[in-house]
Amino acid sequence: MNNAIYLLNVAVSLSFGVALLLAWQRDNSQAFLRMVGLAFLLHAGLPPAYAALNAPDRWLQTAGLATLVALALLSAGLLAVGVGHLAERPFTPRQRRIGAVALLGLGLVLLPVGLPLALVVPAGLNVLVGAAAAAWLWGRGGAERLAGLLLVLLALNALQVFAFGDVVAERQSLVAALIRLCMGLTLLHAAGRRSAEASRVARERFMRLTEHSHQGVAVVRGEQLLYANPALLRIYGLNSLEDVRTLWRDATMPEAERAIGRARHRKLLSGELQRDDWSGERFRFDGTPIRLRFSAWRVDWDGDAAEQVVVSDETAQHDATAAMLHQATHDELTSLPNRSALLARLRDMCAAGEGFALLLLDVDRFKLFNEAHGHSVGDDVLRALAASLAAALRGRAETMRLGEDEFALLAPAQDSEHMAHQVAQAVRELLAQPVALPGHDFFLDVSMGVALHPAHGRDPEALLRAANAAMHEAKHAPGTSLQFAEERFERGSGATLLAEQALRAGLKNEEFSLVYQPKVEIRSALRPPVLVGFEALVRWDPPSGGRISPLQFIPAAERTGMIRELGKLILDLACAQIVAWRGRFGHGVPVAVNVSPLQLLDTGFVDEVLRTLHRHGVPPGLLSLEITESVAVTHMEQARGRIAQLREHGIEVALDDFGTGFSSLNMLRSLPLRTVKIDRTLIEPLPARDATAVVKAICDLAATLELDVIAEGVETAAQSEAVRAAGCHVMQGYLYARPLSPAEAGRWLDRANPEAQAALRPPR
Ligand code: C2E
Ligand code: CA
Ligand code: CA
Repeated sequence: MNNAIYLLNVAVSLSFGVALLLAWQRDNSQAFLRMVGLAFLLHAGLPPAYAALNAPDRWLQTAGLATLVALALLSAGLLAVGVGHLAERPFTPRQRRIGAVALLGLGLVLLPVGLPLALVVPAGLNVLVGAAAAAWLWGRGGAERLAGLLLVLLALNALQVFAFGDVVAERQSLVAALIRLCMGLTLLHAAGRRSAEASRVARERFMRLTEHSHQGVAVVRGEQLLYANPALLRIYGLNSLEDVRTLWRDATMPEAERAIGRARHRKLLSGELQRDDWSGERFRFDGTPIRLRFSAWRVDWDGDAAEQVVVSDETAQHDATAAMLHQATHDELTSLPNRSALLARLRDMCAAGEGFALLLLDVDRFKLFNEAHGHSVGDDVLRALAASLAAALRGRAETMRLGEDEFALLAPAQDSEHMAHQVAQAVRELLAQPVALPGHDFFLDVSMGVALHPAHGRDPEALLRAANAAMHEAKHAPGTSLQFAEERFERGSGATLLAEQALRAGLKNEEFSLVYQPKVEIRSALRPPVLVGFEALVRWDPPSGGRISPLQFIPAAERTGMIRELGKLILDLACAQIVAWRGRFGHGVPVAVNVSPLQLLDTGFVDEVLRTLHRHGVPPGLLSLEITESVAVTHMEQARGRIAQLREHGIEVALDDFGTGFSSLNMLRSLPLRTVKIDRTLIEPLPARDATAVVKAICDLAATLELDVIAEGVETAAQSEAVRAAGCHVMQGYLYARPLSPAEAGRWLDRANPEAQAALRPPR
């Protein structure tokens, strides 16, 4: 026996078996590769089994025979299934099961029969399988047809031994190796061609779908634009993809977004991100700005990962909305903001508590002017006046047109009275010059009425009424004139005086006390809430009975200035309570005290707080302050200074009522805060989807800015769950506890474990 030939046979079977399996792994859709690959691997066992057949030992002979029968039947089965796949007429699972049982039965019958019949039958079976394969695959032509023929040859070759005896064994083995070699190559070739064909079909289908799509479709890898459909080229104003291949990112994206785009691309390709949707401003290749909406995900493109982007052009809608908004808030004749824009601004500024002057300006005897010169000249004059007012007052006051010959000037300023005089002076200087129109110069006079916020009114309607009355008053004076509104009637009047006296009496008679609402940390739905702090809330119990809500008396205290004294008392009470708890339980949690804007803006505030802490011997870490976002917005610079000072001394500051409408992201970034409290109005609609998205966005933002978040007003388990899912783990609300008396709060503190708390909130 020539060992080299047998080794060759084994090597060919093994290597092609592995090669076919690897090919299958690359392209799972080609199931025949697996079946034939496995059959080849089995064939590698044939030569050793033949060798055993000729061994002197009887047992070895029997084992060799059993192995040969098993291998021959099994590989016949695998080849049959494989050919079924190759010919695209796969067997059903039921057929396969029946086939397997039949082969097993045949094996059991053949074994006792012994040589040579036990081997002749499986060999014959292989010939049948080969013949069936050849017949099935004939029609498919090419490599498949050849594979079928080779399979028949392989089976016939195996029969040689039975016909001519052992003398042909070597020749048979050599021929078998050669046939398998050819067959392996043929099948690999067929597999390659099928893969290519499948991807061509997929690609054609993709193109057919995208070529006629109205949405832009692009495929991107790295800096390469691999594919762009006609709609995409149209959106970006391109003739062909060849123009841009690699330049597109720099040409179409605003610089600030390129790095974000690259990072997103990496995440999509790596699978870290499944899909992303975003929208933003982009540029056409001629530089025109456009508004686009994008969705992107990962695709396979020519065998490698790439990003597929679908693009919708929303420029038209965007422009339309912008135009509509502009139309709704601007005056057609002069393009100045109109009455509804003024009302919106007034509402915002009143709510923010800003000081400002509102001037209403009316052209004197404009009706007569119109009658004398005609309406079209009248319109020209108004246009020219509007333009020169806006130009002259830019930076000092906003100019708006309320209708006809009436304008409004809005000038924000701390010292609004002084500002009003300045603005009026600028108007006088402007009107000392004539309004110049082609062919005519016109001198105009105006009457101006001023209302100051908050001196003359606290809401837009009151201010407009006051300014209007003043303007009509000004009409009585000749020439360009200015009149301030009447002093507000409540000033120093009965209501305020009463409130002030009641508050003063309340302070003297110790009618104010604090209740404490726990703040808890929820790590998981299963673990119990952990106490991490209290918020002190003030209560007023006048002797006449009936608790008065802070919502009622805090504004009154602010209006009368009594808040300073009340604030001192509240701080004092809170510190005394912290000390009492420390004495009783040996530990404490931070107590948050609400601070009114008026207190925070007082120059002596920080010293006052420090003195109080010192007097009581309270470590600064046990006190924190909550300030409302409105003060932080309107007095940003001062607020920032105060907060920084407080933090320097170890007193943390939280931004209360976050989300109620005034804060900007910018502000959050520039204030040295520790915590933001998401306002109850944002928690209430949870777990509604859009509301959850808002809370999630705040939490994400807070996380990037390294701010703690607290959700306030959590009332239901569903809200709590939604808050936690959004990424906020500290909560406050009736679900966990209402504001508690000091004794009840003490019981919470008693139950709390100081070690666990220390571990939870490491100091920063
Ligand atoms: P705030 O600072 O936003 O306080 C939270 C308010 O929400 C408290 O009302 C509290 O009782 C209530 N609350 C807590 N959990 C829930 C809940 O789950 N559902 C509902 N519906 N409400 C909940 P309170 O005590 O009436 O205080 C109202 C506001 O008065 C406070 O709002 C704060 O702005 C002001 N305030 C209270 N105490 C003080 C104080 O000592 N100093 C100052 N300057 N202002 C205070
Ligand atoms: Ca608060
Ligand atoms: Ca709040």
